[in-house]
Amino acid sequence: MSNLEMQRLTDGNVMNTYARFPIALVRGEGARVWDADGKEYLDFVSGIAVNSLGHCHPAVAEAVAEQVRTLIHVSNLYHIEPQARLAKALCERSFADRVFFCNSGAEANEAAIKLARRHGSEQARGRSEVITALNSFHGRTLATLTATGQEKIRLGYDPLPQGFRHVPFNDLDAAVDAVDERTAAILVEPIQGEGGVVVPDVSYIRGLRRLCDDKGLLLMFDEVQVGMGRTGRLFAYEHFGVEPDVMTLAKALGGGLPLGAMLAREDVARSFPPGSHASTFGGNPVVCRAGLAVMETILEAGLVGRCEAMGGALRQGLDALAQRFGFIREVRGKGLLLGMEMDRECAPMVQECMREGLLVVPAGANVLRMVPPLTIGQGEVDEALGILERVLARV
Ligand SMILES: *Cc1c(COP(=O)(O)O)cnc(C)c1O
Repeated sequence: MSNLEMQRLTDGNVMNTYARFPIALVRGEGARVWDADGKEYLDFVSGIAVNSLGHCHPAVAEAVAEQVRTLIHVSNLYHIEPQARLAKALCERSFADRVFFCNSGAEANEAAIKLARRHGSEQARGRSEVITALNSFHGRTLATLTATGQEKIRLGYDPLPQGFRHVPFNDLDAAVDAVDERTAAILVEPIQGEGGVVVPDVSYIRGLRRLCDDKGLLLMFDEVQVGMGRTGRLFAYEHFGVEPDVMTLAKALGGGLPLGAMLAREDVARSFPPGSHASTFGGNPVVCRAGLAVMETILEAGLVGRCEAMGGALRQGLDALAQRFGFIREVRGKGLLLGMEMDRECAPMVQECMREGLLVVPAGANVLRMVPPLTIGQGEVDEALGILERVLARV
């Protein structure tokens, strides 16, 4: 089937919720993908920060293949070895003591919000509110789209769940002012992804930690996009020298399989006793085997350090482009989550890059975002920079 035939097939019966590019990707290897017409692309989107080991990494492919031949699904009525082993691996390398597994980022945040409400109500009556940031992104379920600080995502979905309050990101005073006796938790992305790749001040994140300590609130980090090595640390909170009480993960966690997680310290996790929350698929044997393969590969191959080095190389190239092209306002990000803010909409540049064989994705209207696999090499970085330069020179 060709790209065009694929597009027609999608347009026939798939719900029309996505504005898709007019190509179908049919095969991938490392940082490369091929479309239905045989055209090759360098993939700096990675399925939106999901394929951190590149496409079809053998460690993931083999672990998953072996698991699907052994046991695919049993439900959480029973113990699941890969799930318990992945929980142990995550806790050994983070602040957390316990993990709840689910299937997506939204579900992980939904779990965090539910935990915050239960934990808050155990401390004091009426403590249920969650403070989140403007321009944030936390997901598309009713609770998480309400948590999300973007009007356009909430449009038309009234009535929305109660108990959320939005404050400007990277503004500690605003967070301090928003806290009252109803506040249970503060939920933020330690680095905003969809909101335009925004890295806050270290003093902001540290200030939120102090505020939560002073007022007895939970500090919850949404690391769905930035976790698992993406920013040059295994978890983005490591950049700020503070630990959260709760953290959510998803995108890169399952190496392309749908896996989300909500992690918490023991004393917080106690607010989730048996029966308080559940997921049929959550943490099933296959997705957790994939997650284990991702975790092991990241650690064994030193991909977090490599991410920092390659992120530095890509950053340097982008900084040079920003020097040359006046319409680039700013280059920002950490590790291999990088964005270029333009003084105009970047959608036409994204289209042009695609035509030239480079996949990139906007974060907001004006920010061109790059999230290549953590396995990327210098040659691929140079190739991407070359294409970008050609495209920017003619827009
Ligand atoms: C992508 C994302 C989500 C939502 O994840 P889904 O798997 O699409 O539900 C939540 N938070 C952040 C920070 C994200 O980047």
